[in-house]
Amino acid sequence: MLNRIKQLEEAASVLEPAAAQRSNMFRQVGLHTETFLEGLPEGKTFVAGDDCSEQLDGEFAEGPGDFMQLLESSRTALDSEGINAASGGHMGYIPGGGIYPAALGDFLADIGNYYAGVKFASPGAVKMEQQLLRWMADLIGYPATAGGDLTSGGSMANLTAIVTAREIMGVRAKDIEHSCVYLTEGTHHCVDKALRAAGLSECPKRVIPMVSGCRMDEHAFQQQLEADQSAGLRPWLVVASAGTTDTGSIDPINEIAQLAEKHSLWLHVDAAYGGFFILCDEGRVRLKGIERAHSIVLDPHKGMFLPYGSGALLVKNVTWLAQSQAFDAGYMQDTKAAEGFYSPADLSLELSRPFRGMRFWLPLKLFGVAAFRAALSEKIWLARYFHERLEKTPGWEMGPYPDLSVVTFRFIPKHHDINSFNALLVKAVLEDGRVFLSSTRINGKFVIRLAVLHFRTHLKHVDYMLDFLQRKAVALDQLEVLTGMEKHIETT
Ligand SMILES: *Cc1c(COP(=O)(O)O)cnc(C)c1O
Repeated sequence: MLNRIKQLEEAASVLEPAAAQRSNMFRQVGLHTETFLEGLPEGKTFVAGDDCSEQLDGEFAEGPGDFMQLLESSRTALDSEGINAASGGHMGYIPGGGIYPAALGDFLADIGNYYAGVKFASPGAVKMEQQLLRWMADLIGYPATAGGDLTSGGSMANLTAIVTAREIMGVRAKDIEHSCVYLTEGTHHCVDKALRAAGLSECPKRVIPMVSGCRMDEHAFQQQLEADQSAGLRPWLVVASAGTTDTGSIDPINEIAQLAEKHSLWLHVDAAYGGFFILCDEGRVRLKGIERAHSIVLDPHKGMFLPYGSGALLVKNVTWLAQSQAFDAGYMQDTKAAEGFYSPADLSLELSRPFRGMRFWLPLKLFGVAAFRAALSEKIWLARYFHERLEKTPGWEMGPYPDLSVVTFRFIPKHHDINSFNALLVKAVLEDGRVFLSSTRINGKFVIRLAVLHFRTHLKHVDYMLDFLQRKAVALDQLEVLTGMEKHIETT
């Protein structure tokens, strides 16, 4: 038996490379990432295609691979097609971030493999996460009772919020058909997914109309609320968006909070996109009243420019979260913290989870808050600049002046169908590939949208976009038929 164990130990020993091998791998990764980063300014933001199969050998062999070769094949598979989410040209959907020290933070967290689920295992990691949550709670203006959890993203944070609301509001299975939920067309679809996952699909869902500017119509909300109450139903949850994904619009939070308080509803604010704009003056005025929410979702992988995998949930009273999430397992008995102390696992659907604090703490401490404040302010001004420039150019129909950093617009062609013309315009941007944007439908209209949130997006990217759109729109509108478009794109 001992021989067998020794043999196995020997065979498994490659799992722990020696110091020289490690530093060689580290150096190779350093060179690899430098090549990537140095290539960003001149590179493309989007390349169409879905065929990286050539580069990715599908076999997982018994024997070892070559590190350099693996880096090379991952480069071709990952970097030759699709959206380059690290590029400043990314102005589609809601761009994510990827600031450098966050990656180093992940590296440090992963090398130590700190167990951030319970304080007993890694008090330092838990403390770091709690400091970050406290910092966010202070930004919002939440009281000392507040708490929260660092999640994998906005969707998981919204799900946790909905489950918490359900538990604290006492919505039981037998109540569901009478328990009304209020949201708008602009509410992110992950809230629908969360309602479904939380077993709440059968709650009557009231999609409150939006007024101009794509914000919830608070009067319509009030009317619906009162009608439902008169009909013997129980309104229990309203979801406000602080920055809708479609248009970046912010619902009238104060007015909604007023009604929620009066009628005893849980107010959840989905600020996954817009929440961190509270750091800058231009954003703070728009987010007034957000501290009145029972729960708030923020996405540090959006507004704090972290790489994907960072969301956050804040609740005004941490005991709500604990009541809805905490669980006692026999085998966890040694890890119990003092009464009144909540470890992340007590406040989360997760138990073992990545130590998410390090990727957030390191950049925030290293760069300081002012740098983030400036970057967020810059994004707002870039969106305003884009809106103002295009508004002054004939032919363009602009959506609402941006609340934050999303601009919607379309070109009104002289000779073509508006919707298909604008779809072609988006296609032209994608085929060019230097910059990237996306589109949406608002009241049945095809609308182009620009979302400025990447920390690498600056004036030159926005100017490129403006110039490209204008040139392309004019050129396309002069064409008699819009087929043969591909050729046209190649030659102009
Ligand atoms: C991005 C976003 C979400 C979803 O968050 P993920 O981090 O992608 O899971 C939810 N709500 C809003 C408003 C968002 O912008």
